[in-house]
Amino acid sequence: MDYYSSQISRLIEEFSRLPGIGAKSAQRLAFHIINMPKEQVENLAKSIVDARNNVRYCAQCCTLTDKEICPICSNSKRDQRTIMVVETPRDLAAYEKTGKYDGVYHVLHGAISPMLGIGPGDIKLKELMERLQKDVDEVIVATNSSLEGETTAMYISKLIKPTGIKVSRIASGVPVGGDLEYIDEVTLLRALEGRTEL
Ligand code: ZN
Repeated sequence: MDYYSSQISRLIEEFSRLPGIGAKSAQRLAFHIINMPKEQVENLAKSIVDARNNVRYCAQCCTLTDKEICPICSNSKRDQRTIMVVETPRDLAAYEKTGKYDGVYHVLHGAISPMLGIGPGDIKLKELMERLQKDVDEVIVATNSSLEGETTAMYISKLIKPTGIKVSRIASGVPVGGDLEYIDEVTLLRALEGRTEL
């Protein structure tokens, strides 16, 4: 039954497809938008479409960017021979905020999870291995200390070991199950400095 106009129903339906948005939140958002100034709504809609159209994976590190190569990878001051492997662009941002890491990154966009049916082929591992064909001194595995993060770290270490490239894992100063993005900078730096070879 359409209690509201079918266009509002459609809006509610679209919102409820988003992660973390239940039926009630979807309704609240839809009614909020109906009451917003038209110009603001147009800006919102345009920014959604623009972001979706222009943001892509960096051809080198796979983070999200609107350029072919992201600003970190194309910065000549960054040490291209040290690669920190993280799960998400948010983790990358957390380390960037510390301002103390001058290497580059590799973003996996997930972690291996047999429970959720996410295998090595579902994250950006192939892209990482391709990068290791170039001169690389160290790969720092900074996946989360969750079960998935640890599984992924072990897998990466096994893949890289035969290449002779140094593989290290950030220290477990990061609480178990902790999401990197919520951890303060001091803890992140301590974890990075206290990394151990795998
Ligand atoms: Zn990049």
